Amino acid sequence: MMPVVAIVGRPNVGKSTLFNRILGQRKAIVEDFPGVTRDRNYAEVTRYEKPFTLIDTGGFEPVTEERMLVQMREQSQLAIEEADIILFVADGKEGLTPSDVEVAQMLRRVDKPILYVVNKVDGDAQEVGATEFYALGVETIHTISAEHGRGVPDLIDDILALLPEAAPLRDNEGEVRLAVIGRPNVGKSTLVNRLLGFERMVANPTAGTTRDSVDTPFIYNKNNYLLIDTAGIRRKGKVSQRLEKFSVIQALKAMERAHIVLVVIDAEEGVTDQDMTVAGYAYEKGRAVILVVNKWDRLEKNNRTVSEYTETLRSTFKFLSFAPIIFISALTGQRVNKIMGEVEKVSAEFNKKISTSHLNQLLADAERGHQPPVYQGKRLKLFYITQTAVRPPTFIIFVNKAEGVHFSYQRYLGNKIREAFGFSGCPIRLQFKDRE
Ligand code: GDP
Ligand code: GDP
Repeated sequence: MMPVVAIVGRPNVGKSTLFNRILGQRKAIVEDFPGVTRDRNYAEVTRYEKPFTLIDTGGFEPVTEERMLVQMREQSQLAIEEADIILFVADGKEGLTPSDVEVAQMLRRVDKPILYVVNKVDGDAQEVGATEFYALGVETIHTISAEHGRGVPDLIDDILALLPEAAPLRDNEGEVRLAVIGRPNVGKSTLVNRLLGFERMVANPTAGTTRDSVDTPFIYNKNNYLLIDTAGIRRKGKVSQRLEKFSVIQALKAMERAHIVLVVIDAEEGVTDQDMTVAGYAYEKGRAVILVVNKWDRLEKNNRTVSEYTETLRSTFKFLSFAPIIFISALTGQRVNKIMGEVEKVSAEFNKKISTSHLNQLLADAERGHQPPVYQGKRLKLFYITQTAVRPPTFIIFVNKAEGVHFSYQRYLGNKIREAFGFSGCPIRLQFKDRE
């Protein structure tokens, strides 16, 4: 499981600049689906000797002036409870502010590594001014310029030194790991109890416990499953209990370990930005996804409700067009029994391997149906295709000029693969390589 490094601090101190600087690249446009990467504020950082997940906690919600401080406090508190390392960033140009002091006080009670960072120290001249931050009563202040990179390599060295050794992922052969994700009150606990078929006892979780989720192994149709349930977590810390805030970090951690993610949505409330954030992450991480619309009993329905709701969901979650949708009521139990059947199907698809001969047949058909584009004056030629991985299904297509296969043709081929082989619930990865 990857450790989480969270960046906290007031707006405008340079958190997202630092985020990009540590990431070492401009925010990558992964897909052209709007919404997936637009407000991307989490990333896997793999360019250093230890991988970690980096989160800019400031960016999860739109911030209005009056909500700003409340917002910062809440997200900082959640980060404090759930991150492994905290980067507290202040603005060296502006100097020490009362809210810096307030957050620092909060951090003092935390038994986790915290790095105090003063940003916008662009040159030696500004170093002196930064010393006022020692008034926070901390041992070490990192003065950096996120914009110019000054001081950042040292900061990264310190982060790496503090990162815990990656805990080996328990990987029971054949076990399917299911994560139930969704905002507070969408009905996760109710659903989990239904799925498990009994009222699970929540063993008096105490504040500050390091558990991020409640894992329950169970057997269904002779197969082993592990249910990763984030519902129990909000009762964990005092802070999140009081706030009842949706923690993106917690959701990301649960999805990190999952094969299949059940994204639970409240039928009445519909999809929120945070649902988009976590679903986008599931997609980028290559997790299989099933959309579960809960509290279906609460809607006034007619014979078009399902199709209209489906259409709305499809246009919101464009990047999850492959995800099955199930309308349930966890409260009454309506259609809850469909979920495990769907999980079994999706799991089979997620682990499915298509033979190279079938794939090449498909590639030839696809090429006939829609000629590949011309690139640099020459028509592209697709040589062959092979499936190189499962979970998620990953394909390599060898081409005379891989860089010439633009997105629309990639999507066309992806759709052809889906038409022929299904892969319901699974994101598909296509890679194009120059033929050697
Ligand atoms: P966030 O709201 O905390 O994420 O802050 P941003 O990363 O969006 O930065 C806010 C402003 O500070 C932007 O105009 C940045 O260009 C500027 N900024 C960020 N880092 C530095 C720095 O190291 N030096 C200077 N002079 N400006 C910076
Ligand atoms: P969680 O915070 O996501 O774990 O949500 P809970 O399972 O605690 O449910 C929150 C509230 O919604 C509780 O009062 C549940 O009884 C209620 N609830 C859960 N599922 C349904 C449902 O399908 N229909 C209705 N009407 N209420 C539900």
